Amino acid sequence: MIAVLKENATEQQIRNLTEWFESQGVKVNRSQGDFVTILGLIGDTTKIDIDLLRGLDIVDNVMRITEPFKKANRKFHPEDSVIDVGGVKIGGGNFAVMAGPCSVESEEQIIETAKAVKEAGATLLRGGAYKPRTSPYDFQGLHEEGIRLLLKAKEITGLPIVSEIMSPEQLPVFEEVDCLQVGARNMQNFDLLKAIGKTQKPVLLKRGLSATIKELLMSAEYIMSEGNPNVILCERGIRTYETYTRNTFDVSAISVLKELTHLPVVGDPSHATGKASLIRPMSMAAVVSGADALEIEVHTAPEKALSDAAQQLKPDEFKGVMEAINKARSIL
Ligand code: PEP
Ligand code: MN
Repeated sequence: MIAVLKENATEQQIRNLTEWFESQGVKVNRSQGDFVTILGLIGDTTKIDIDLLRGLDIVDNVMRITEPFKKANRKFHPEDSVIDVGGVKIGGGNFAVMAGPCSVESEEQIIETAKAVKEAGATLLRGGAYKPRTSPYDFQGLHEEGIRLLLKAKEITGLPIVSEIMSPEQLPVFEEVDCLQVGARNMQNFDLLKAIGKTQKPVLLKRGLSATIKELLMSAEYIMSEGNPNVILCERGIRTYETYTRNTFDVSAISVLKELTHLPVVGDPSHATGKASLIRPMSMAAVVSGADALEIEVHTAPEKALSDAAQQLKPDEFKGVMEAINKARSIL
């Protein structure tokens, strides 16, 4: 439930009303604009008499909202959130590109790729050290060594790093990682979400393979309700009956999320399509759909990649995609 207060509500009146709500067992999330104060009520609001509330002098309007996500909801927080990832801002007009290999494979590979993506205009370096593979016999990542190599690449290029975390026990290893990626397969790993929620680390939360937009937002809510507001959402394709592409890029989800939430939204054309040839058009589509950032896989020698070989771009191809992205941005 949301209570929009009248412009002339005094601080004392707002405090009294807040205390009354709290005495009814609901938490109050206050959003202060230049003119209007909005009180978002979190919890069981069934006991609150909406007509009584509407009758109060300082109340302008009261709305029951059906969405169970409160902290991620744009209704409570109309302005875009801007998330700082190691000095790079994402959201609210700040556009970012996270690029790098699917997996960190060697020192030479990650450093060469980091230099190449930086040169082409990427603002963050991505790379998996813990890989959630469908088969237990496939390459599982370099683990701690992979994180160490990413940090080395950061030291050389200055690019903040994004890497996937798979369990709460790994948090100490990610101490110096700028952004924790929660992969599609872990979008509803609630213990992981809660543990990350207790930190203040920026999180790139990827949409689950078969998750609805609301389920993605509820997962964001898990992180935010523990006290971490630094959540960035990612559309990375969903499972449909189509098999030509690896997944189906739900581009409209980017625009829908921009309407529903103030959190930044990232488009990942690499996992959405699984095909290097589709990265350029789908990057442009994500940009014009309102994405605040893109995540794109780049490898110095994709044909030799230990994971996701078919979707990774060579550095010169990535350069071309960056030019297309800039062109798409210029028409917005
Ligand atoms: C990845 O980013 O390499 C990855 C595994 O992504 P997703 O969780 O979206 O499949
Ligand atoms: Mn990948």
